[in-house]
Amino acid sequence: MGESVGMNNEKLIELRNISKSFDGEQILKSINLDIHKKEFITLLGPSGCGKTTTLRIIAGFVTPDEGEVIFEGKKINDLPPHKRNVNTVFQRYALFPHLNVYENIAFGLRLAKTPDEEIRTRVSEMLSLVNLRGFEKRDVTSLSGGQQQRVAIARALINRPEVLLLDEPLGALDLKLRKDMQVELKRMQRETGITFIYVTHDQEEALSMSDTVVVMANGSIQQIGTPEKIYNEPENAFVADFIGESNIVNGTMIKDYTVSFAKQVFTCEDAGFEPNEPVDVVVRPEDIDIVPLDKAMLTGQVTAVTFKGDYYEVIVDIDHFKWMIETTDRVEVGQTLGISIDPYEIQVMKKSEFSGMFGDYSTFSDEIEHLSDVETEETK
Ligand code: ATP
Repeated sequence: MGESVGMNNEKLIELRNISKSFDGEQILKSINLDIHKKEFITLLGPSGCGKTTTLRIIAGFVTPDEGEVIFEGKKINDLPPHKRNVNTVFQRYALFPHLNVYENIAFGLRLAKTPDEEIRTRVSEMLSLVNLRGFEKRDVTSLSGGQQQRVAIARALINRPEVLLLDEPLGALDLKLRKDMQVELKRMQRETGITFIYVTHDQEEALSMSDTVVVMANGSIQQIGTPEKIYNEPENAFVADFIGESNIVNGTMIKDYTVSFAKQVFTCEDAGFEPNEPVDVVVRPEDIDIVPLDKAMLTGQVTAVTFKGDYYEVIVDIDHFKWMIETTDRVEVGQTLGISIDPYEIQVMKKSEFSGMFGDYSTFSDEIEHLSDVETEETK
């Protein structure tokens, strides 16, 4: 799972201890990353964490202050962008408005003085790849956003780069189109076998398209792994919070396979911590079972219930910590709820600089209470 058919373990690009500052502020802090041939790898993180800067270092538009950029075993720090076998697709796709679809895609080949016959064959291949056959003569300004983005991708791929860099390429599209294009991009990557390095702040997009996800925060890599690994086994509170919903509580790892949190002792599947090591414990809202009170591991008061279509999002106050639970059961605000958590649903993480910053849904509940207060005020 998680690996595309063609991905192999041969390293294509290596970033070694890359650091970069702008105006005295350190934007990248000793980044180490291996990118493999035919891999679909995504840099994921909040705005400002350094994703685009990392991409621009790979493209050659930004020179790192420290560290090495290695391409197929050779250091390329000083190689200018046009000599790197890399192309970029941006969110603003910047097509040439005075050229039609065919000429936009053919542009790079014309510059390289490629013979007409070959241009015709290769543009035609590209049009099939991006599903735009029959659009050759169309004015690019008459195309929809999604179609324009396809032209931009075809134009970037026609030179057969070894690597395609994509910086939030779907950011300008609406949700439905974005979902369709995610599937399309994944298909194009598989068919061409080109390494895709994709930048997004959208966790769902990252999880659904990538072989490998690189989670970044504050200029550092927090975790590298398959989408499943990142979701199921987050390495710290930042990753757990950024990817999906998470309850993150303080705990103590009493011994291997035994952790205590919320004043109870639980069996878990984690080992290798020091005896009684303080840890962060993450439990996903969908992994918590509601059980009769006499069978409950924990009990608490329901403070909010939100209907989400195919489930309810329930906030439960357990000893002053607000947990989020997703359930199809009907529960009422004010009710006392019993919950149970299976050992394999508990993920134990090392303490980190992010401990205590995330994972309690009290603000969420307070916000709702605050909003309903406002409504009451207004409706008075
Ligand atoms: P976003 O999704 O908002 O683009 P990002 O994770 O891609 O975020 P970067 O674009 O890498 O982040 O920017 C990281 C930080 O570096 C930001 O604070 C940005 O303002 C700063 N920065 C980037 N390029 C430059 C530059 N050329 N000069 C000065 N500061 C810069």
